Amino acid sequence: MIIKSDKDTISPYLTDQSGLNGSYCERVFVPENYSEVSDVLKYAFQNSLPVTVSGSGTGVTGGRLPFGGIVISLEKLNKIISFDNEYLVVQAGVPLSEIHSFLKKRNRIYPPDSTEWSASIGGNIATNASGSRTFKYGPTRKYVKELKIALPNGDILDIPRGEFVAKGSWFETPFLPPFEIANYKMPDIKNAAGYYSQKNMDLIDLFIGSEGTLSVILEAKLKTLYFNGQLLSFFVFFDDYSQVLDFVAKARKQNLLSIEFFDENSLILVRKNFSQIPKNKKAAVFFEEEILDKTPDAVEKAIGKWSEILSKFNIDDKYIWAAVEEDKEEEFKKIRHEVPVQVNEIVKLRKIPKVGTDIAVPEENFNEMFSYYLQLFASEKIDYLIFGHIGDCHLHANILPKNIEEMKTAKEIYLKLVKKAILLNGTVSAEHGIGKLKHQFLKEMYGEDGLKEMVRIKKIFDEKGILNRDNIFPKEYLDK
Ligand SMILES: Cc1cc2nc3c(=O)[nH]c(=O)nc-3n(C[C@H](O)[C@H](O)[C@H](O)COP(=O)(O)OP(=O)(O)OC[C@H]3O[C@@H](n4cnc5c(N)ncnc54)[C@H](O)[C@@H]3O)c2cc1C
Repeated sequence: MIIKSDKDTISPYLTDQSGLNGSYCERVFVPENYSEVSDVLKYAFQNSLPVTVSGSGTGVTGGRLPFGGIVISLEKLNKIISFDNEYLVVQAGVPLSEIHSFLKKRNRIYPPDSTEWSASIGGNIATNASGSRTFKYGPTRKYVKELKIALPNGDILDIPRGEFVAKGSWFETPFLPPFEIANYKMPDIKNAAGYYSQKNMDLIDLFIGSEGTLSVILEAKLKTLYFNGQLLSFFVFFDDYSQVLDFVAKARKQNLLSIEFFDENSLILVRKNFSQIPKNKKAAVFFEEEILDKTPDAVEKAIGKWSEILSKFNIDDKYIWAAVEEDKEEEFKKIRHEVPVQVNEIVKLRKIPKVGTDIAVPEENFNEMFSYYLQLFASEKIDYLIFGHIGDCHLHANILPKNIEEMKTAKEIYLKLVKKAILLNGTVSAEHGIGKLKHQFLKEMYGEDGLKEMVRIKKIFDEKGILNRDNIFPKEYLDK
């Protein structure tokens, strides 16, 4: 096991994509097998030492950033262990890029296609990550069949789906005293805010999305799907937002893989590196359809269907881009990925974190939420852009303050958006998690009692409160 303790070797573990500053730790442990992870945890447990778990550091909520104690990095647990044509067993540190390229050669996919492929699968499971194709396939949770985890006291457990299931609200397992699930109601939409809680739930779902606060994920068995590789993708540019909403309502009924949105400011940003993006367009929608039948006729038929749907919107042909070839589809995906990349460049330049929302609402309330975004930003003079998973009624507003004063305004806007989303039965985090930056919003969503329920659950697994302190709820709650 590598142990890092000097400033230079530790510093890469003190950043992620959140822009949160001030992170520090004593040492970074880089175990090369599961028993080394267990040994480090036992040592930390005996000495009541805070432990922060580190994946690839692409998180945007400060989840992997330590504030004292030690770090366990999963980077050396990076092996693909086995594949039986349906289930893929991987260690937690394997990056998504490797999983995708391994499966592509075998005509299979791991469906949750979280945009950032340098992220580790452990990080994706810890945050219940989603991607654009979650619109069709659902989030990470749906594809995790089994986990190998290490508890904060160093015990290693296998948690297969279906093995430990709550009876109503109660769990009885061979390794824990009986306990009741958290007592709050989760919204019935894409959601990554706080611990999972449902009557008759599977124990594995408690660990998925728990942001490393209950266990260190060591290994996962993932469900993969057959994919014939034939996609039809479109980029369509619109002149106004009401057209976009009309189109998206129609597109949602078409069994698409993904439907993604870009506002005018996102298009301006992306044009820096993709000069082909047309000027003076108000918005764009990117969508993908899997063509199950691989014959040329099937592709023609699908193109015909979309021509007909789009003909009602009077869009000039040059603003409708279609792709069936793989390299063109790749380019579309690069354009999609370019938005958060460019945002991060601005953040680095300004040295002031962005304020990024991760709100989703039920479909019936989406248009109201969308109008609220527009109305709110129209009344504020601040740099912002809105983009993301419009198919899932889940948009990211990224607010880019230039100074401390604007940061205050950005946070006020965020809080207003959060309050509106909660009124509309939405979630404050649909995919990024709460981390260390969004405690306040989680409290808005679940109230003080909800947070206390999460603390109760945490203490069942982590009685000393050493693991990933300050993720999901403020660490002070652990000492109350
Ligand atoms: C350009 C860009 C695009 C992005 N797009 C998306 C997107 O489409 N969808 C999405 O959901 N997210 C997206 N993200 C956010 C990020 O990629 C995800 O949150 C990802 O799941 C983080 O994985 P990571 O390995 O980088 O984890 P880290 O950032 O290292 O950690 C994230 C959290 O997971 C915990 N953790 C990591 N590994 C483990 C483990 N083995 N056991 C227990 N806990 C662990 C950490 O402690 C931390 O709390 C994007 C980020 C960027 C920069």
